Amino acid sequence: MPKRDYYEVLGVSRSATLDEIKSAYRKLAMQYHPDRNPGNKEAEEKFKEITEAYEVLSDEEKRRRYDQYGHAGMRVGQDFHQYTSMDDIFRAFSDIFGGSLFEEFFGGMGPRATSYRPPQSQGERGGDLRVRLGLTLEEIAHGVEKTLKVRRYMPCSTCRGSGSARGNGGYAYCTTCNGTGQVSHVSRTAFGQFVNITTCPSCGGSGYTLHDPCPACGGEGRIMGEDNVRVSLPPGITSDRYLTLRGKGHAGRRGGPAGDLIIEIEEKEHPYFRREGNNVLYNLLISFPDAVLGGEVEVPTLDGTALLTIKPGTQPGTILRMRGKGLPDMDTHIRGDQLVVVNIYVPSKVSSHERELLRQLASSESIAPKKRRKENKDTGFFGKFRSSFSL
Ligand SMILES: [Zn+2]
Ligand SMILES: [Zn+2]
Repeated sequence: MPKRDYYEVLGVSRSATLDEIKSAYRKLAMQYHPDRNPGNKEAEEKFKEITEAYEVLSDEEKRRRYDQYGHAGMRVGQDFHQYTSMDDIFRAFSDIFGGSLFEEFFGGMGPRATSYRPPQSQGERGGDLRVRLGLTLEEIAHGVEKTLKVRRYMPCSTCRGSGSARGNGGYAYCTTCNGTGQVSHVSRTAFGQFVNITTCPSCGGSGYTLHDPCPACGGEGRIMGEDNVRVSLPPGITSDRYLTLRGKGHAGRRGGPAGDLIIEIEEKEHPYFRREGNNVLYNLLISFPDAVLGGEVEVPTLDGTALLTIKPGTQPGTILRMRGKGLPDMDTHIRGDQLVVVNIYVPSKVSSHERELLRQLASSESIAPKKRRKENKDTGFFGKFRSSFSL
């Protein structure tokens, strides 16, 4: 069977604008839509034909080539699809138009396999939800599973999301606009006759009306409720990252797709650790005798307590590195270190006996720092800034 001229198929002139082409296609698509013509092979063929014509004429480049070379200038699979089934058309359309124009026409029905298809543009997508989730450094170090209580719209169980008390049967094509979603007003003025096309006031442009709204949800197809969402957080997550759970946001209106749940990670302040990238800083106070004599001290880590060896003569400000006791990198899983900054505890109160002992100690040789000796430069604050001071 020879192909009909695309302009003829859509019933538009060769100089038709894109808007005119869209509008013509929309009207014909409504007329030959398989939902309105169940089991009608002829309507289905017609629907394929107008879809193919629309595909070419709505694309500036393809239309130019068609104008120049006619059907001979078209390549199957590139300029239009050789549709073999209705499913094909639906799939192709959601690809080509990314859903938007498709939904504008048919309300995102998607492949026809699904049992419930929300009517045109009634099934709008649900909103995204954002929640903040506080995590301790221990949870970040090892990863954690959490159950979040989320208040969100959930599909109405009474009408199974359709919004209609009679399932999908409660919807009918809007009689005001005959399902096109648009109405035209003709106004006569001194300058002639004008046709004004506006959105249909009865259906809000959807082309459908709902006769029998579901009493449980009032026709919305969704109900606000509390939901428990389980989320698994990988070790090493940082507070600048967030997790997106697809389809766990608000349910869509009247069977539309659900939005996303976006989880923002917030790091809880730790009582004694500070995070520095993948390393963990810990401030350790030891006594003056321990610093002089050395010994073993217990320090907390993200995995529980561990023993740390203090060498005799450890200076204040010394940084001891505990390898692999920090936080894991999210991608490589390699753990950072715990850095222990050693400081000397100076008691503000001592007993009279201790005071006597300290006095004796103070007068003893090698307790007080020597004046103008090399090790003075190497200790504490000045040690770190040696190069910028000339002592
Ligand atoms: Zn309902
Ligand atoms: Zn209407």
